[in-house]
Amino acid sequence: AAKDAGRGVYRFYADAMHNQASERKAIEDALRDALARDELTLLYQPIVDVKREHVTGFEALIRWRREGGEMISPSKFIPIAEESNLIIPIGEWIIRTACATIARLGPGYRVAVNVSPRQFANEKLPATILNAVAAAGIAPGQLELEITEGVFLDESPETLEMFQKLKRTGVRLALDDFGTGYSALGYLKKAPFDKIKIDQSFVLGAADKSSMNAAIISSIVGLASALDMETTAEGVETHDDLALVRALGCSHVQGYIYGRPMAIEAVLALLREGGGRVVARGFKSAREP
Ligand code: C2E
Ligand code: MG
Ligand code: MG
Ligand code: MG
Repeated sequence: AAKDAGRGVYRFYADAMHNQASERKAIEDALRDALARDELTLLYQPIVDVKREHVTGFEALIRWRREGGEMISPSKFIPIAEESNLIIPIGEWIIRTACATIARLGPGYRVAVNVSPRQFANEKLPATILNAVAAAGIAPGQLELEITEGVFLDESPETLEMFQKLKRTGVRLALDDFGTGYSALGYLKKAPFDKIKIDQSFVLGAADKSSMNAAIISSIVGLASALDMETTAEGVETHDDLALVRALGCSHVQGYIYGRPMAIEAVLALLREGGGRVVARGFKSAREP
């Protein structure tokens, strides 16, 4: 009986693994069609200069609405796109779409796009960027690339070379989710970042937790200002957190307090009505479309 039970357990895990693998395969196949079928969209979340309470730009965040209306989170499909190399054509689409959006926003605003490690390792990336920037007729400095510490796992000379090549295109570089991954402290000196984005795990609820998060945020801000980089605090939801990150010297804030990721039409309306001025409202205010 024990042997039967053991077999049952084995069978259970084997089935679970099989189901997981076939779910990934199904997502991969559907994702391949999604691009062509226009099922992918970018939403844009405001990034706010805290001193001036003025929008300086937006982060483009990808959304996938499958036919039938089901929304799939990027945390679920981006890793699959990474593994299957679909991230290369999808990444190109993201860059071209973001540049077209920048052209619609006008010269005063920037848009940041997330660049995954595999995209970063692709030697065609600088050319893709230059083409997209030229096609949209925008200034390269209006496009910002968000890169995570994951790219530093590959400690090859090509990694640092890619940073230099990207810098030479004139785009801005931001280090995303700082503090969560592989420590990039040594690379901060060598890689020409314009901005550090402080991960939301240090920011969300920082005001009511121990002073540990405040100490971490404060030291990142110190590091960034010594290196002449901006800082964006991610995931600011409450007035208390906003007051804290402002007091600690973060230059920019991104979070539900100022706005959720929104469709391009809503972005244009926001800029038309407020001229880029925004008010901290709290995270319950607006929902994602
Ligand atoms: P990320 O780049 O760190 O993006 C920030 C995430 O935090 C977004 O989640 C955003 O909706 C969420 N967020 C912003 N403000 C708040 C807040 O106040 N509270 C809370 N709780 N969350 C907030 P999202 O859009 O689900 O994206 C998750 C991750 O998926 C992104 O993290 C990024 O790593 C990846 N991702 C999203 N879009 C793209 C893309 O176009 N390309 C690539 N390669 N990755 C993407
Ligand atoms: Mg990001
Ligand atoms: Mg982030
Ligand atoms: Mg994140």
